[in-house]
Amino acid sequence: MLEQVFLHQKKYSLQLRKESLKVRLSFLDDLERLITEHQGDIVKALHADFAKPEAETLLTEVYPLIKEIQHTKKNLKIWARPTPVESGTALWGTKSVIKREPRGVCLIISPWNYPLNLALSPLIGALAAGNCAIIKPSEVSRHTSAFLKKYLPQYFRAEHVTVIEGGKETTEELMKFPFDHVFFTGSTRVGKIIMEQASRHLSTVTLELGGKSPVLVDESANLKHTAEKVVWGKFLNGGQTCVAPDYLLVQQNQWPHLKPLIIETIEKFYGKTDEQVQSPSLARMISKNHAQRMKTLLEDAVKTGAELVYGGNIDIEKSFISPTLLEKPDLQSDIMQEEIFGPLLPVITYNTLPEAIDFINQREKPLALYIFSNSRHNIREILEETSSGGVSINDTVIHVGNHHLPFGGVGASGLGNYHGYFGFRAFSHERAVLKRSWGHSLASRLYPPYTASKVDM
Ligand code: NAD
Repeated sequence: MLEQVFLHQKKYSLQLRKESLKVRLSFLDDLERLITEHQGDIVKALHADFAKPEAETLLTEVYPLIKEIQHTKKNLKIWARPTPVESGTALWGTKSVIKREPRGVCLIISPWNYPLNLALSPLIGALAAGNCAIIKPSEVSRHTSAFLKKYLPQYFRAEHVTVIEGGKETTEELMKFPFDHVFFTGSTRVGKIIMEQASRHLSTVTLELGGKSPVLVDESANLKHTAEKVVWGKFLNGGQTCVAPDYLLVQQNQWPHLKPLIIETIEKFYGKTDEQVQSPSLARMISKNHAQRMKTLLEDAVKTGAELVYGGNIDIEKSFISPTLLEKPDLQSDIMQEEIFGPLLPVITYNTLPEAIDFINQREKPLALYIFSNSRHNIREILEETSSGGVSINDTVIHVGNHHLPFGGVGASGLGNYHGYFGFRAFSHERAVLKRSWGHSLASRLYPPYTASKVDM
């Protein structure tokens, strides 16, 4: 059955190559209609998956998709225009252009944590660039996956866009086909497997992966703002965000002042510790298993010397973990070795800025880095001396929402990027086209027999 789907798409992709931009724009209209006409169903699906608050679903899944579609529709004509480039004197008599062409049949594999956005945002780039796509949503967010399976076929023909549900085994089966591009969003561990499998057909890949994104707070930071931005970015989506602040690196004199502000902000957003389990503004863990993993991470951190300074309330039956702060974690403990991906926030203090920069550089390159500082000198130094997929300065997470910026990782946090033009580019092949119009006699200098005068510059 999978082979049939793939072959149908392969055939249709050749027809699609010849279609005008107008046709591609109509596909983007269809995707926009799917989202706007079923907003209520989307909110319900995400709530059923992990009690995602309606406001968060609208702000982080629905509206960014609509904005990105509109941005793409507005700019597609410019992005898709062939770019003339110089040919140079050696190729006198020729014209050169870069053409952006569809890659063909693409596979989009998405995770459960922003289950709508991360399945459909890559699709925007794929459609804009003129491709067919098979979407393999996460089996973990099963209500959103079922939503995609039910509604996408009402707006797209199967040979153009198809949803294939399933887990690891289904992905393995799909990866046996020679896709023209594989766009994977998920963990670094699985990303490596996908890249290995893609290499069998030399399929190109975009890997949007995870990692531990640090927050660096220096002596000059405005602590009230820092507390608000960190608490929002960390506990948004129940802490299950790929670019969530993973841990805080705070200048040691600042921490005694920042700590009460963070606690105050948590309580302002989600209520007192005993009220948080009722909070409609706090998403739950995606499953009991994921909640159990948080519990184990927390218990292990405390056992290995971390101090629990706030929170730590757990109700596995309700998949609930309260916003939690920990100080002085053992750097070898799992909480400091694995991406946390939940509402536990470890805090590490540092003395000098070079110490904090070293701390970041001794670890894998993160997907995001957050700098809280009012010192231009410090900001420049941190930017120059570290690497990460993206950066927000004096804020968290929001750089992802700017469709004019590329979104992607570096090193262990990913390969390639997308959003807006970068999404269109990820799903396009840049074809080099050179045409000779005149100057045939000059070209004959290239041909044998190679006499001395031919290589004489
Ligand atoms: P995951 O890697 O477990 O799963 C992602 C997808 O891969 C799912 O569709 C799943 O069915 C499939 N899969 C799982 N194991 C597989 C295997 N062995 N072989 C083939 N396919 C397999 O990730 P997840 O738990 O769904 O999502 C959380 C991770 O995703 C975190 O690490 C997070 O940081 C990362 N993430 C990254 C981004 C980004 O844009 N960079 C966005 C969201 C999430």
